[in-house]
Amino acid sequence: MPTLNECIEQIGVLVKKKEFTTDTLFLKLVWAMVELAEAMDIVKKRGLPPADEVPIVADNIAEELIDVIFYVCDAYRLLRRRYPYIMTMDDMFNHKMLKNMSREKRYGQGLLTSFMKVYIDHMAEEGILDEFMNETSRYVFQLQEKNLRDLNEDRKIYPPTD
Ligand SMILES: [Mg+2]
Repeated sequence: MPTLNECIEQIGVLVKKKEFTTDTLFLKLVWAMVELAEAMDIVKKRGLPPADEVPIVADNIAEELIDVIFYVCDAYRLLRRRYPYIMTMDDMFNHKMLKNMSREKRYGQGLLTSFMKVYIDHMAEEGILDEFMNETSRYVFQLQEKNLRDLNEDRKIYPPTD
């Protein structure tokens, strides 16, 4: 299995070979998000099939996730090209792993204010929490679809490099 640093090297070779050399760091990040949205889109449209079926949809999701890694690595490559003094990707991974392992669980806590907790409890008591969550999910997916449509329009003007 390649290390993240080796992935960056290999992707650098691919980028040169395929002449994807004009993309900016910002665009690499956009493409990474697009690839993630592609994975989300498969799950949204087809759901997760039973684990014992080994269906093609699982392969499709896996491929999209690796596409994300490709663009993230390429973004990191460009970041280090501009700022060579930042840690290598392997070192940054280890650094972040240690940091995350050693801190308290607090991710996302700031989002759930006491007001929201009261409101959510109220909806649960009234039996409308599921409906609310479904509405919220639908809204988020509609927003994602709109963003993808906008991005596809942009891609007509600025063709992608993959
Ligand atoms: Mg893809």
